[in-house]
Amino acid sequence: MKRIKPGKTETDYNEHKKTIHPEEWEVDYLQTWLSVYGPYAFFDTSTGLRIPPQAATIATTVIASAGDNLFELQRKRVSTKRYNPFAVRALFEKMDKIQLDNLSSILIFCNEYGLLGEEIMKRPSSLRGVYSGVYGKIESLDFFIREVQELKNCLKIYNCSRSPDQNFKLMITVNKYLATVSPRVQLLPDGSKLLPGQTSATLLGAVYYQLYELFGSGAELKECPLCGSYFTPRTHRSNFCPTPEGEGYTRSPCENRYNQMVHWSREKYMLGKKTVEEIAAMKKRPATEVQQWLDGYERR
Ligand SMILES: [Zn+2]
Repeated sequence: MKRIKPGKTETDYNEHKKTIHPEEWEVDYLQTWLSVYGPYAFFDTSTGLRIPPQAATIATTVIASAGDNLFELQRKRVSTKRYNPFAVRALFEKMDKIQLDNLSSILIFCNEYGLLGEEIMKRPSSLRGVYSGVYGKIESLDFFIREVQELKNCLKIYNCSRSPDQNFKLMITVNKYLATVSPRVQLLPDGSKLLPGQTSATLLGAVYYQLYELFGSGAELKECPLCGSYFTPRTHRSNFCPTPEGEGYTRSPCENRYNQMVHWSREKYMLGKKTVEEIAAMKKRPATEVQQWLDGYERR
């Protein structure tokens, strides 16, 4: 995360200049405060009733702050969390991990990071500031799914050897979302200094700002062998989705689950209880991959 650290320059006894950054002078360069109105649930817009995730059909469903009836929620909504999305490392990874065929995973994402910003994306730019009060409370499921799919496509294209046409498409897509990101002047907490910064009216803007930095840096993405999500490797040896930060994890949950799957398969195979084909079918992995796990095992 980029931070503005306006420092004082001092010259030490060796005549070396060094810049000192007092901690109280540190301000996030990228700053936006988004509200989460969780817990969210799915509602049918025609009846106003809550529907379980497995029954949610896209066309008439909205994601909104949970309660019994959509129409009664209007006055009750209070934000449960406010956070700076720019300060969340690699937000696009979290969004890419949403399983669109399992709508519960949409609610889990929304309860953590809020809604994407349909209300603002649909308004003309001159009205974005005026209407931003609606943001975060209600969003159509159709919009949410389309946006997540678009992001997934972007990451997939980025991770391939791209044609000029594909690069062009990425450029257009990212720029579309950057329209909700704008420069602004901000103040040091003590009000003594003006600093440059960026803000985003939507979560999507913040997500694509991170893609803008990623694409601009040319950094590589990896694809997790377990869940298929894309991520920026934290070290050169990272092969699985990164270990979640600050949640008491010491290892990547995807790496753990993958290792358990390999271990289980080797055991079943060695005991003669399952064939390669049976394991491949049960674990929904290609038989060639299963064979690799066993080859590695037999050599030991
Ligand atoms: Zn993964």
